[in-house]
Amino acid sequence: SSSAYDVIIIGAGAAGLMCAATAGYRGRRVLVLDHANKPGKKILMSGGGRCNFTNLNSTPANFLSDNPHYCISALKRYTPQDFLELVDRHGVDYEEKGPGQLFCRDSAKDILNLLLTECDWAGAEIRLKTQVREVRQTGGGYQVATSGGLLTCDSLVVASGGLSIPTMGATGFGYELAKQFGLRVLPTRAGLVPFTLQPELKQQLAPLSGVSCPVDAHCHNQHFREPMLVTHRGLSGPAMLQVSSYWHPGDDVHINLLPGRSIQDDLLALRKEKPQSTLAQYLNQHLPKRFAQAFNELHGWHGPLQACRNQDIEQIASTLGNWCIKPGGTEGYRTAEVTLGGIDTRQLSSKTMATLDRPNLFFIGEVVDVTGHLGGHNFQWAWASGVAAGNEA
Ligand code: FAD
Repeated sequence: SSSAYDVIIIGAGAAGLMCAATAGYRGRRVLVLDHANKPGKKILMSGGGRCNFTNLNSTPANFLSDNPHYCISALKRYTPQDFLELVDRHGVDYEEKGPGQLFCRDSAKDILNLLLTECDWAGAEIRLKTQVREVRQTGGGYQVATSGGLLTCDSLVVASGGLSIPTMGATGFGYELAKQFGLRVLPTRAGLVPFTLQPELKQQLAPLSGVSCPVDAHCHNQHFREPMLVTHRGLSGPAMLQVSSYWHPGDDVHINLLPGRSIQDDLLALRKEKPQSTLAQYLNQHLPKRFAQAFNELHGWHGPLQACRNQDIEQIASTLGNWCIKPGGTEGYRTAEVTLGGIDTRQLSSKTMATLDRPNLFFIGEVVDVTGHLGGHNFQWAWASGVAAGNEA
């Protein structure tokens, strides 16, 4: 019947569209379902509207997972270079912003259009504003009850994403479906998300709102040397977003405000050469002025360096080089770029992304327990896992 498909993909996001084109080119009759009124909304809002679509330096070390080896195979078989070739074939203009981080020069729309064009060429159909009410296993395949009627398929691919940005249509659909089929879902939490601060520190840092400075931040021994941004809500910027993926409530975050400098040696030398100089002067030289001032104020550092004992200098150096803060929390899924945790990959094939006991039920993209660092890695996982499943479904 006309409602029978070879492959039904739930979720017209990055992973789902990539999978649809791949399966379509194999001659499979493919349908992508989405409850949203438009496909790829997160692609459009990604990378500040320019979509950081891959990272040339992406390696498995850029991903968090309870089962870290799972992602290796798919990432090896579909590389950033492979996606870049696709981008080039479509004539999309791009630029490298950070090291290896490729962004559209014009608009994230270019990436969405690329995917929609590929789906079109591959003959994959996309049906929007469609609610999935129930999924049932039937004989060899699946029956999908939707707001638009009953559909059937041989292979079902779940690409419904994580929980971040609920206003963009994120739901826990994929986790529920996984549970329905007896799969384990690891606890989820918000990742790549700004920190909120406890009231006292928040108030102390309020004058710094809008100031950014390069830092080396770490949590659980994962170091990120990137800019930090103070906002009126807390701490953000790439360094904090990266660290947030490793942070658990109650953990400290360590921040080196002067990465690459030997602060204690600097101060000892300065005290010897210019005993009248102040810490404020030193900080002004190496930190944004507003930050230097407020930080000095915060710690009540006054007077000339010659008044500082060695142990004072040691103390100051440690405060600057290992500023230790305890975030109150994170902004949560409301602003998180990704969802950590999800479907336990131990029950999936790293070659096909299918469940080990049902070779025609696939989970791809963010819904599974594979989460990338900031910088284009999450899309690279969406592409790679989408292609892996699309070659098999
Ligand atoms: P999604 O792209 O989220 O797609 C899931 C789709 O499933 C959606 O279309 C949704 O409507 C649909 N869906 C959900 N529930 C249902 C349901 N019940 N029924 C039907 N359909 C459903 N990553 C990068 O690599 N680079 C970046 O620059 C970047 N910037 C980002 C900026 C922001 C603000 C955010 C929020 C994320 C960013 N990310 C970035 C992360 C990246 O967007 C995601 O990792 C990626 O989109 C995941 O792809 P996906 O296909 O698994 O899920």
